[in-house]
Amino acid sequence: MRRIAILGSTGSIGTQSLDVIRRHPESFCAAALAARSSAAALAAQVREFSPAAAALVCPPEGFAGENNCEWSFGEEALLDICAREDVDAVLVAVVGIAGLPAVLRAIECGKTVLLANKEALVTGGALVMEAARRKGVSLLPVDSEHSAIFQCIQGRPNAHPCRIVLTASGGPFRTWSREQIERATVEQALRHPNWSMGRKITIDSASMVNKALEVIEARWLFDMAPEDIEVVVHPQSVVHSGVEFSDGALLCQMGLPDMRVPIAYAMSYPDRMGNVGERLDLTRAGALTFEAPDFARFPALKLAWEVLREGGDAPVRLNGANEVAVDLVLRGELPFFRIADLLAETLSREGARPVREVADVLDADRRARETAHALAQRWTA
Ligand code: NDP
Ligand code: MG
Repeated sequence: MRRIAILGSTGSIGTQSLDVIRRHPESFCAAALAARSSAAALAAQVREFSPAAAALVCPPEGFAGENNCEWSFGEEALLDICAREDVDAVLVAVVGIAGLPAVLRAIECGKTVLLANKEALVTGGALVMEAARRKGVSLLPVDSEHSAIFQCIQGRPNAHPCRIVLTASGGPFRTWSREQIERATVEQALRHPNWSMGRKITIDSASMVNKALEVIEARWLFDMAPEDIEVVVHPQSVVHSGVEFSDGALLCQMGLPDMRVPIAYAMSYPDRMGNVGERLDLTRAGALTFEAPDFARFPALKLAWEVLREGGDAPVRLNGANEVAVDLVLRGELPFFRIADLLAETLSREGARPVREVADVLDADRRARETAHALAQRWTA
């Protein structure tokens, strides 16, 4: 029985993780659950899954939990869950840089980390990988592309891939002209063709910033040189990513677009489980197509390689500016197509500073947010 804590249990990844647990009560239990402010949803999950602990970062006024489990509140409560003795693995499925302290605390406490939150690696990649190495902790990817890559390299300890092929659906604006994208509304950006996900990552997919974040995530998870990570647009989302070896063999992992598959793989690793989701019938999958990404229509994508080349805190500032941009777009205060401008402008305002500790990351994040907020005023929707 693997005892799993889910941080972000009320979200898209969180609820799908609970569905995997629901299907496999003999293998997993939800030892602890945490969310930001969705008290009613979290309380309902507590009633169904009976975790020993539940935490809310921002509880609604007057909410004190129910007396069927140990409730706690505030930012520290989320981190305390990572330290619990009755937790074996922590699934980090919160949104944004809030995932970084949680990932670091889980590693520090020697827990296996099931990582959905890519922002933790984008902002703290070197620190997280070093901490995991030092503590001998496994960091198992949940992001579907990284899970695909991870699956493709299993059993090949002596063969480091020479190239990673990261597939991207291309999002709702894949076939739109630049002029059309300039008029895109937030409602159109929220209509992802293949995946149903939280609002932040859905906007990130439309701008292709999600793929930029995933390039950085792959750089750290698989210790790859940025120039050996290639993005290929694959609108059907059936090939989830692949790795190429020195002899030119390209291994890919395929399946229907269903996050429960990578979630279940991370939960049960190194084993595999049945009863996860629908299966792929290749005879009914239709044509699978691949195309090069268009950096002219999706300029934010190329920032991934730029910030990796720049190093230091540049990826942190990219992420911080993007969190501000997405928030403004979702509030209707910034036109969607300005995201790329806001990121590029924020990055250009300062050179990279070194990152030696978490405080450097948090400081760079704070500066980037301030700069992005100030810059956004001129494009306010
Ligand atoms: P959602 O917005 O659907 O859910 C986010 C969850 O995290 C909610 O439970 C939310 O609680 C909680 N949360 C948000 N912010 C905080 C915070 N500051 N502190 C504590 N809890 C918080 O997001 P997704 O499930 O879509 O995404 C989660 C992460 O997984 C992201 O990093 C995303 O990039 C990554 N990911 C998601 C995929 C997907 O298919 N959805 C695919 C691959 C990666 P509340 O409900 O109370 O607000
Ligand atoms: Mg992904």
